[in-house]
Amino acid sequence: MNIPTTANIVIIGGGVMGASALYHLALRGVKDVVLIEKENFFGTGATGRCAGGVRYQFSTEINVKLSQHSLPMLERFKEEIGQDVNYRQCGYLLVATNQKDADYFKRNVELQNKLGVETKFLSGDEVRAKVPLMKFDDAIAGTFNPKDGLVDPNSVVMGYISAAQKLGAQAISGAEVTGIKTEGNQIREVQTNLGTIQTRNVLNAAGPWAGIIGKMAGVDIPIVPLRRQMFTTSALKELPADFPFVIDFARSLYFHLEGDGLLIGMSNQNEKPGLDQNVDEDFELVNLEAAIERMPLVEKAARASHWAGLYEVTPDAHPIYGGTNLEGFTVCAGFSGHGFMHGPVSGKLMAEYILDGKFSTLDVSMLDLKRFEEGRLIQEYNVV
Ligand SMILES: Cc1cc2nc3c(=O)[nH]c(=O)nc-3n(C[C@H](O)[C@H](O)[C@H](O)COP(=O)(O)OP(=O)(O)OC[C@H]3O[C@@H](n4cnc5c(N)ncnc54)[C@H](O)[C@@H]3O)c2cc1C
Repeated sequence: MNIPTTANIVIIGGGVMGASALYHLALRGVKDVVLIEKENFFGTGATGRCAGGVRYQFSTEINVKLSQHSLPMLERFKEEIGQDVNYRQCGYLLVATNQKDADYFKRNVELQNKLGVETKFLSGDEVRAKVPLMKFDDAIAGTFNPKDGLVDPNSVVMGYISAAQKLGAQAISGAEVTGIKTEGNQIREVQTNLGTIQTRNVLNAAGPWAGIIGKMAGVDIPIVPLRRQMFTTSALKELPADFPFVIDFARSLYFHLEGDGLLIGMSNQNEKPGLDQNVDEDFELVNLEAAIERMPLVEKAARASHWAGLYEVTPDAHPIYGGTNLEGFTVCAGFSGHGFMHGPVSGKLMAEYILDGKFSTLDVSMLDLKRFEEGRLIQEYNVV
């Protein structure tokens, strides 16, 4: 596809954020909008490498509210966008093995219940009863929400892109943004390896690369790429069909069903920021040993696949939404490892911000870029 020479709005990044924003802008009647993705396929950045988990269980009001808007959009996705996204409500089981985490869990459940989310606080015995295949002798508490679950990331991205294209928007893959030309306080053009687009409006939806795109425009965006990895196992017939998404919170070790086997991941707390997306095989062994300790059954399985991706981490683990000191340069990035699930509502919010100058669906104005220089950080605890 040819790069257009002009556009009203250029979206940089074809992950869930860019795709959802493209669709929601097109739905609002904007036709002169083009999405640019550097890879040959859409959704091969963080979105396509993510664990597909969607949950209501967060520790801040704004994250719970983002889920309350976004997850129902995923439930209605087939009806509204015409694409099945395989939403499986297996529930998330978060397990605390120390008192500090248990206390936080209690507070989080109170917050979630107050907001209308029916998460349950569990005792250590109730955790053990829920996952008898796992060894949680040291569990002292847990939380469970049956409406949390799993969704297929690629189907969400392609669902939005196809629906946006049908509405007249353009999405171009295999085109890399290499520069953003500005004059005074205004954007003049977006330069790509395939040509230049004259525009006044850019949406930076480049996920872990959002800081690099910011630099091209002379805007400082504190988003750091951080490698995270996971592996899947061969079939394990002992696994029940209702096995939940389990998070051993203190170790940031997680398990969920993937086909007839498991997907297992763990965060390397010593990982240094960087763009390397190769699997760290040494750390994979650490992950495997921890997984077998928690679930001895894993020893019987073979590794089926493995991959790494990049979290897009901000100083307070919350996203950045909205404008910058460069006119027309808007950011929707920095979801710090839990953004896939908030992609649907985030695209809608960005369409509102770009077209109306304000957020109507949900007030996310406190998640602006300026909060970092003004010291208005909002820390999220439920990030693994
Ligand atoms: C291992 C892992 C597990 C995760 N698990 C979960 C989970 O279970 N649940 C959940 O909700 N979230 C999860 N996440 C987080 C989630 O994947 C991200 O928050 C979300 O996908 C971010 O979407 P995005 O569109 O902002 O970024 P991306 O999907 O990375 O999209 C950005 C796109 O911009 C493109 N781009 C970059 N630079 C340029 C350029 N110069 N020109 C053109 N295009 C460019 C990239 O190629 C990329 O496709 C996980 C992430 C990882 C890495």
